[in-house]
Amino acid sequence: MAKIIPKKSISVESNWQKELATSFNDPQKLLKYLNIPVEEQIKNITARSLFPMRVPQHFANLMSKGDTQDPLFKQIFPLYDEFLEDPEYTVDPLLEQETPQQGILHKYQTRALLMVRGGCAVNCRYCFRRHFPYQQNSLNKQGWIEALDYIAQDSKLNEIIYSGGDPLMAKDDFLAWLTKEIEQIPHITRLRMHTRLPVVIPNRIDAQFVKWISQSRLKMIMVLHINHANEIDTKLISKLNLLRENQVTLLNQSVLLAGVNNTAESQIALSERLFEAGVMPYYLHMLDKVKGATHFDVNENQAREIMAEMIKRLPGFLVPKLVREIGGQPGKTPLDLHLHP
Ligand code: SF4
Repeated sequence: MAKIIPKKSISVESNWQKELATSFNDPQKLLKYLNIPVEEQIKNITARSLFPMRVPQHFANLMSKGDTQDPLFKQIFPLYDEFLEDPEYTVDPLLEQETPQQGILHKYQTRALLMVRGGCAVNCRYCFRRHFPYQQNSLNKQGWIEALDYIAQDSKLNEIIYSGGDPLMAKDDFLAWLTKEIEQIPHITRLRMHTRLPVVIPNRIDAQFVKWISQSRLKMIMVLHINHANEIDTKLISKLNLLRENQVTLLNQSVLLAGVNNTAESQIALSERLFEAGVMPYYLHMLDKVKGATHFDVNENQAREIMAEMIKRLPGFLVPKLVREIGGQPGKTPLDLHLHP
């Protein structure tokens, strides 16, 4: 098969790239925009040295002004607690940093995950890949050819997952090329994208993106990452409608985060709002124990109580599966829902 990597496009940048380029990466500027006194946050800002801050304007617009307890603000603003050391919290909680083939994670027999892009449009402070060595896993032209050969040679694979970082950070001409190459491998029938980018920059779903996904023979699934109902506004809903009109199945996974969404009310509101947006709740993850994120931890019994309330108050199809990822294990581990003494 012809494997010609597309040349860089010299077209005028689309809106999403401009929005990305003008994201907040200076905590003081974000605080000023949100009317939060900078002097009260000086200590917290030092945690930016552990993981840079990055927040697109659209996501900042969804936060309530002057409120340091805002559930969106708490996900992205550095906190001094990130310096806390706990031996249970490590830089590689899912033991992913050894891969069989550069740029590919192949944990499941039928699915392989491609690390399409290292960066993200937003830096979530609880991210389990906040220490991941993306540089070592970014593929050059030869690397992509080898990754595609690896997929072609394993006929047990039927699904490819675009991951990262955030795979939608890649430009559409590259994604269209990669997808076309995968389409030529007969045993691959599904393409799944794990992304948070449309949530923080809905304009990422533009005409160019819709063009290549609508032309593919592969069944398309987008797994969004939305943690709180306030992340879903009318702009995002209109973009998600466009995807549904083009036969993209929309699912959501979220992370249970202390101070952000660890109440039954918050989880129920999220499920209801997802459904209004045409997205089915899929997984609710326990926090991965990544270094720097101890303050986000929710204990298992509290998670079980939240689930019990959701089961009581929501139809079954709006209740996500509560799971934990355990480093080295091939799949997610469902949590049993009985309270433990
Ligand atoms: S968008 Fe996903 S991969 Fe990127 S920082 Fe947030 S949680 Fe991590």
